Amino acid sequence: MTKADPGNAFAIGVDVGGTTIKAAIVGANGDLHESFHQPSPRSTSALRDFVHLVLDHAKDPVRGIGIGCKGIIDCASTRVKSLPGDLHFLEGQLLSDVVGAGELPICAENDARAALVAEVLWGAARGRRNVVMLTLGTGVGGAAMVDGRILCGASGAAGHLGHVTVDPRGGLCICGNYGCVETRFSSKAIESGYWAHLHRAAPAKLSLNGAGSPPDTEAIFHAAAEGDECARHVLDSALEYLAAAIVGYMHTFDPEIFILGGNIAAAGPQLFDPIRDKIAHRTRILLGRKVPIVFQKVVGFGGVAGAAGLVFLHEGLLEIC
Ligand SMILES: [Zn+2]
Repeated sequence: MTKADPGNAFAIGVDVGGTTIKAAIVGANGDLHESFHQPSPRSTSALRDFVHLVLDHAKDPVRGIGIGCKGIIDCASTRVKSLPGDLHFLEGQLLSDVVGAGELPICAENDARAALVAEVLWGAARGRRNVVMLTLGTGVGGAAMVDGRILCGASGAAGHLGHVTVDPRGGLCICGNYGCVETRFSSKAIESGYWAHLHRAAPAKLSLNGAGSPPDTEAIFHAAAEGDECARHVLDSALEYLAAAIVGYMHTFDPEIFILGGNIAAAGPQLFDPIRDKIAHRTRILLGRKVPIVFQKVVGFGGVAGAAGLVFLHEGLLEIC
């Protein structure tokens, strides 16, 4: 895997998410040496200040700054081509200009692709050339590596697996399509599903909090485990859609391994057990084997490590085998 001796090379990895921005000083072996996080910036100057705060903490010279960001990112120029939602202020911006770090190389990529890079370099997909990854959180991110290449597509949008239709009659999605995976299986979908039951006064064990918000996804998973019929119904329904989507991805990409990451994947067996057998059964004829569905290995700061990995790949210190 090592192309040139990476020695004690370091890079800064930054993961710009919808609610939190994270960063770390990362070694070429994937180790995080110092990590940072704060609420997501709401202006370009706040993003720049955060990255420079991290840069100021680096004791050793870094080889570059890698940025994983939601949306469609042109990795050749670092331009944010499309980014609806809370980070919309970054749309049209060159991340290298926003960060402004002089001669230091700046790499940028979609956040889910950065998370996949971390798994390929240091995690569950090490040594694999055909991998699909879903990041399950507020929304659903996705990335696919086929024959050793992470797919980008004609406009950089390839691998947006959260925006595949699983319910043609479903609700309007942030992307403008209807019934996307993200509208059926994401923390927002699960929480709004539970809220709809509360709104109908269905028998439920959880209730709105003081601010009128529905219980969060973690609480809904706990409630389901403790027998809350409402939570079970919401999760069973959401998992049906997720399983159907994964079957489609397996048939499309024929991966060696399928990785689930993100906050919701941390639910572990409650998420994996109900869908593994179902997916294996539905893919057995076309694929002729059971594709492992595993939890991401580079947890918590996977997107950060992967963003730094972009720098190591760009600088020729590491390569995808
Ligand atoms: Zn969508």
